[in-house]
Amino acid sequence: MASSPSGSLVSADVRRHNLALVAHRLAQQGPLSRSQLADATGLARGSVTALVAALVEAGVVRESEEPESAPRGSASRGRPLTLLRLAADDVALLVLQLDADQATAVLTAVDGHALFRASEHHGRPMGDPGRVLDVLARVLARTLDAAAGLGRRVVDLTVVVFAPIGGTPPVVVADTDLEWGAVDVLGELRRRVPELPTATLASDGTVAALAELSELEAAGSAIRDLVYAKSNSGIGGAVVAEGALVAGAHGFAGAFGHLSVDPHGVRCLCGQRGCLVTVAGPDVVLAEAGLTAEVGEHGLTEALRELVARIQGGDARATAAWEAALPWIAHALRIVAMTVDPEVVVLGGYWSELADSIAGAFAQDGPSIAATATPIAVVAGRLGEDAALLGAARVARDALLDDPLALTTSPSPSSVI
Ligand SMILES: [Zn+2]
Repeated sequence: MASSPSGSLVSADVRRHNLALVAHRLAQQGPLSRSQLADATGLARGSVTALVAALVEAGVVRESEEPESAPRGSASRGRPLTLLRLAADDVALLVLQLDADQATAVLTAVDGHALFRASEHHGRPMGDPGRVLDVLARVLARTLDAAAGLGRRVVDLTVVVFAPIGGTPPVVVADTDLEWGAVDVLGELRRRVPELPTATLASDGTVAALAELSELEAAGSAIRDLVYAKSNSGIGGAVVAEGALVAGAHGFAGAFGHLSVDPHGVRCLCGQRGCLVTVAGPDVVLAEAGLTAEVGEHGLTEALRELVARIQGGDARATAAWEAALPWIAHALRIVAMTVDPEVVVLGGYWSELADSIAGAFAQDGPSIAATATPIAVVAGRLGEDAALLGAARVARDALLDDPLALTTSPSPSSVI
């Protein structure tokens, strides 16, 4: 602890930090006994006991005796073990996602388990934000009703859009999937759903990148510098440097779909020319592959599934469409790689299914790195279609657990200060 004007402020800060540490450990590794929690946090057992008491009293943590669930090798094998788990049974987190096909809402408990899920296709009315936002608001209202029915208060709403966001307050800058210019999604939702909870707008690439990074960490990887690049609705991604997202001054960092790769190309909705999405975006590839009607009939997600199946099945037209897009994608990734120098490029969306061909195109004419250095790996993501939803829920939960006593509705006598 650095110098502080007041010793009591320092101790309050330490206590708040330690409460958060206990809550985060229980979220990541729980349920745990008090002694396991002491080992996992590095805190003294006496401190853990006091911190847990405050969390139990606030209803954020629950204890239960579980004789059968003593972990292997535990000294207390055979004796009942008091395990602690996150509770906060009266609150929920809500993630609302808007992609090129549908609006999806997922309600989760603080421990991460899903409580309710709803979705509705919006029919992709191009250039008509109002109709799409009506559907988004309907799914939101239905999910808020479900939360109320479950006796849970929604303490956090994250709205995930498949488009770059920027500005204050944050708005969608341009959504090429829906032919939107700037749209104030949160403002429009608030007009339609006046009881809107505290809401955050997030670009899918950033939250998916954090979720993929967590997956790599859970698998034992020490990777801290990562580029996440994906294509499903549009093309996007994120840059993670030293474990933290690079947001950029305007929030555009990682908007790889709007890398201007062809200076003589067509004008993009973002105002630039020849953006990657205009030469290798999903709609371009699907049109070249003869799958435009499939998009209209079954939506973009299904059409991309069919595209991948045809490419992997050796269909000539689908393969030609992919091979036309591939050099642009590899070109863009090489520019990104030399700009931020990541350890790994993780591919998401339908690109994860075609990771080998993207890795091959990237390596061809790729940067030659000294033999002593590990080359930049291009790999498929692990999380599939729900990467952004999972990531948003995880980011929201982590933020809430930074101040776990704030999760309680009833004021706690042993409050933080
Ligand atoms: Zn653009």
